[in-house]
Amino acid sequence: MRSEKAIEKIKIDLREEQRDYEIIIGAGLLNRLDKYIGQLYQGKKIFLVTDENVMKFYGEQVKEVLSSAGYEITLYVLPAGEEAKSSPYLKKGYDYLLENNFNRDNLILALGGGVVGDLAGFLAATFMRGIPFVQIPTTLLAQVDSSVGGKTAINHPRGKNLIGAFYQPKMVLIDPGFLQTLPVRELRTGLAEVLKYGFIVDRDLLDFMAGHREEILNLETAALTRIIQTSCRIKAAIVREDEKEKGMRALLNFGHTIGHALEAVTEYKKYTHGEAVAIGMVAAGELSRSVENLEKAEVDYLKELIRAYGLPLSCQYGEGLKEVYERLFYDKKVQKNKLRWILLKELGAAYIDEGVDNKIVKEVLEGIM
Ligand code: ADP
Ligand code: ZN
Repeated sequence: MRSEKAIEKIKIDLREEQRDYEIIIGAGLLNRLDKYIGQLYQGKKIFLVTDENVMKFYGEQVKEVLSSAGYEITLYVLPAGEEAKSSPYLKKGYDYLLENNFNRDNLILALGGGVVGDLAGFLAATFMRGIPFVQIPTTLLAQVDSSVGGKTAINHPRGKNLIGAFYQPKMVLIDPGFLQTLPVRELRTGLAEVLKYGFIVDRDLLDFMAGHREEILNLETAALTRIIQTSCRIKAAIVREDEKEKGMRALLNFGHTIGHALEAVTEYKKYTHGEAVAIGMVAAGELSRSVENLEKAEVDYLKELIRAYGLPLSCQYGEGLKEVYERLFYDKKVQKNKLRWILLKELGAAYIDEGVDNKIVKEVLEGIM
């Protein structure tokens, strides 16, 4: 048996005790879900939301662990992919919850990537004004990013994540073992966010990523656990400071201004989120060099790490400069043509810069086209 020492708990302290919760990280958690869920839930009924792929790999095992502990599972299997994050699947979820007599004393469990977490989380936030919710993220991106922080949403035909709520789960259970079946492109997209944490606040994480590339890409448990723990600790610390995204939390947008623009102009069909963000981080690195004199050696190291993890350094699909540039200003947070850049003073130290000349932005964009 594995010792309890292999389990790390990160407390999310939201200054209101009844909303505090823990992120629990450890290999093999999958087989002990019942134990952790039992600590916070005394009822029997569980609404388990997942998608077809995750169902195929882990559905039976999760059902088995929970049923043998006496839980009654109602299963809601979404199609895999972004289309599930939409009002038809939300409505189906409400219908299903009502048909099966769920109420605020029951529990919703999200087993899957960001899509499942976002849909199930918004369902939980809104069903009867809020029903308890536990996340079991199964992609690296969800484990290090979307499952931590309490953002939930569905898409609208006019844009992504336009309908949503901040709603904190009761617990997040992270088992790196899920990553063994994850397609490599999905793994890399998560690694881009891990690198991002390093670039903005943690130089040691970057050195670890540089020194343990083989172990990480070979999905070795110890290395994966380490990068997930570090990422969650960083995100937790930032969210704790700034739950509703007023200050510090903006640093998490490093690489995302240009990343989001690239995703949008390619209609979310060409790049994964992490690939677009990787290019965005290269651009933000170059921009930092232009305005803040970030040393060339540092920019080179940033690029080297991105390349080492199989992520792109420049645009791949002949996107037009004008189109990408104009997209930068579409963001709901942009005011008066002034972009809010997250730049680096050095690797591991980000800051917010609202005074960057748009001419320099264009020059940097040219460089990554
Ligand atoms: P993300 O977490 O990257 O936002 P998704 O929820 O869309 O995105 O998941 C990405 C893809 O990976 C989906 O096709 C999903 O079904 C699949 N997936 C999720 N978790 C796993 C896993 N552990 N093993 C294999 N495939 C998975
Ligand atoms: Zn991101």
